[in-house]
Amino acid sequence: MPQSLPDSENHKATLLGKIAQLRDFRPGSITTTSGRCGNPTCHCHRPGDTGHGPNFRLTYKAHGKTVTESFASLAARRKAEQEIEEYRKWQQLSRDFVEVNSTLCRLRPTAEAEATPQGKNRRKRSSRKLPAK
Ligand SMILES: [Zn+2]
Repeated sequence: MPQSLPDSENHKATLLGKIAQLRDFRPGSITTTSGRCGNPTCHCHRPGDTGHGPNFRLTYKAHGKTVTESFASLAARRKAEQEIEEYRKWQQLSRDFVEVNSTLCRLRPTAEAEATPQGKNRRKRSSRKLPAK
């Protein structure tokens, strides 16, 4: 991690650029189901049959509930895989973004320190009582 202020500012700008370039993303995961179904006359119950599947499912949380969806097509599955992959990039970028911002907060001088440069208005005497000329 860069620790100087300019380095961290550059890093922040770079991360922002990457975040801006993210495509559509969604949290979730793709799981597979396979095995034997409930129909005893199905081929999957024959000896040596490998069973059904794998069938791919998209699982994600919506309003606190776990939602599971099947895919209408291989293309739909590929699309969801890319969207989830993009979400992982977002998670990493957002972690890095918080980190670089925290670093900037530590490194950034306070406004008061910047507003009172040396040698101004910090002398022993107040100028308030000077008579107007
Ligand atoms: Zn079956």
